[in-house]
Amino acid sequence: MEKGQLLYDGKAKQVYATDKPDEVIMHYKDDATAGDGAKHEQFSGKGVLNHTISGIIFDMLKEAGIKTHLIEKLNDRDDLVKKVKIFPLEVIVRNITTGSFCRRTGCPEGLVLDEPIFEISYKNDEYHDPLINEDHAVAMKLCTREEYATIKQETLKINELLKQFFLAFNLKLVDFKIEFGKTEDGEILLADEISPDSCRLWDVDTNKKYDKDVFRQSTGDLIETYKAVLARMQKK
Ligand code: 5GP
Repeated sequence: MEKGQLLYDGKAKQVYATDKPDEVIMHYKDDATAGDGAKHEQFSGKGVLNHTISGIIFDMLKEAGIKTHLIEKLNDRDDLVKKVKIFPLEVIVRNITTGSFCRRTGCPEGLVLDEPIFEISYKNDEYHDPLINEDHAVAMKLCTREEYATIKQETLKINELLKQFFLAFNLKLVDFKIEFGKTEDGEILLADEISPDSCRLWDVDTNKKYDKDVFRQSTGDLIETYKAVLARMQKK
């Protein structure tokens, strides 16, 4: 499958047209950004690592009945995926408190929540991805109420699957961000990626961070951290 026209050039990925109108190629770049784009670096091999990690996770989710955009892996950085219109929503689940939730509310870090918190943010760089709720999303026509319900239901299922998945590698799923898209036929699919860029993962025994926070907070080597996540996932 040949890459056609560049359709989208994002912070960490690109999307290219193919010769089929309903299929596109998603390409993983080596770029990492944080702090609303204030911090930007390139890490040789990051795209390959995230592509590999995300591929294993999407395969696991597909096996468990989650509908995703992934059709097939083409090489170590490119996926053939179903063309979707991405909902302009960052869909977030929190199992343990940290990050923007604590900054926003003053809630102490590291509280293990009795029930997951489901959040949505409006994907909009100019307004810094503001936190919104269901009524806002419907009023702004970002999704319908029915689509919101589907997205929430699927996301909470995905949370349970991911929590179990990472626990098998002695990692706690602290929180994560996912994105959904809609096909021409109206089917809602999990899209984008799931990787240490978009999940917070803490070691069960030590709470050591195995995610992009090492880059955000300059506390560790991003590539070594992501390699360690992949090594755990590949250990039988
Ligand atoms: P927070 O809102 O605490 O910054 O992030 C919550 C979760 O969503 C974290 O796992 C974080 O990695 C993820 N997340 C939030 N915003 C983004 C984003 O713009 N890009 C990516 N890749 N992940 C995000």
